Amino acid sequence: MKIISHPLRLKETLRDAQGSVGFVPTMGALHEGHLELIKNARKENDIVVVSIFVNPTQFLEGEDLDKYPRRDEADKKICELAGVDILFFPTAQDIYSEDEVKLQAPNVRGYILEGFTRPGHFSGVLTVVMKLLNIVSPTRAYFGKKDAQQLHLIMLMVKQYFMSVEIVPIDTVRDSDGLAQSSRNVYLSAEQRAEALKIPTSLYHGAKLISQGVTDVERIRKEILEILSGLEVGYVAILSREFEPIDTVQIGNSIILVEAIVGETRLLDNIWL
Ligand code: AMP
Repeated sequence: MKIISHPLRLKETLRDAQGSVGFVPTMGALHEGHLELIKNARKENDIVVVSIFVNPTQFLEGEDLDKYPRRDEADKKICELAGVDILFFPTAQDIYSEDEVKLQAPNVRGYILEGFTRPGHFSGVLTVVMKLLNIVSPTRAYFGKKDAQQLHLIMLMVKQYFMSVEIVPIDTVRDSDGLAQSSRNVYLSAEQRAEALKIPTSLYHGAKLISQGVTDVERIRKEILEILSGLEVGYVAILSREFEPIDTVQIGNSIILVEAIVGETRLLDNIWL
């Protein structure tokens, strides 16, 4: 496995590469969720590139940028064992310069839900994803459905900017107790983790109601909120997969999204219906 930190070096290396390139962008502290993306990339491409970059522009003032978990050496080993060909490990100086051309998240879908609690977050996400996709020029890029709004906005950017990459969504990987894997789960104490399980429980309950024929969004939201009581809920939203409001759930085109804060840790989860 090659480890490359400079964008132009990586471009040069990939210029001579033969075959399809699968790309998995991450912020490191790799877990089973990331591995699932890497496994899919490995299966479907000749060359696999993973990036590890804790992108400063997607963190707001006062967020956990400085204490975001970093496990560089373990991550390198995990990538090597997973059959990654190139690990891209840039610094912020490699990616950003002074007085940058700005990319802005869309006014509506970039500023609801996560974008409402974290205004400007998705501008940072889209900027770094655009930069990374331009550096790697992959055939396919892999993103988790766990970050559903992020995935939606990236797909929108790729479409609206006529980019040539195929975005491949990957199902959320969960621990055996149902909690969605996340690099931030390490912040949770045992008690907080037990509390956090209300999140997947509430989503499964929503899905069960729908399987029983309940389609009324307000009723489903209310029952989900009841299960989440005791947690600091950021939002419970039931939207179309285009992230537009709906009154009734349509199977095949709906998604339930939850954000809740447990202790000081913001957790996201969702279920696609
Ligand atoms: P992050 O390192 O948190 O920026 O995540 C990198 C990629 O891994 C993103 O596309 C995430 O959506 C994806 N991801 C994170 N957690 C999971 C999970 N539990 N299951 C599947 N994909 C995930």
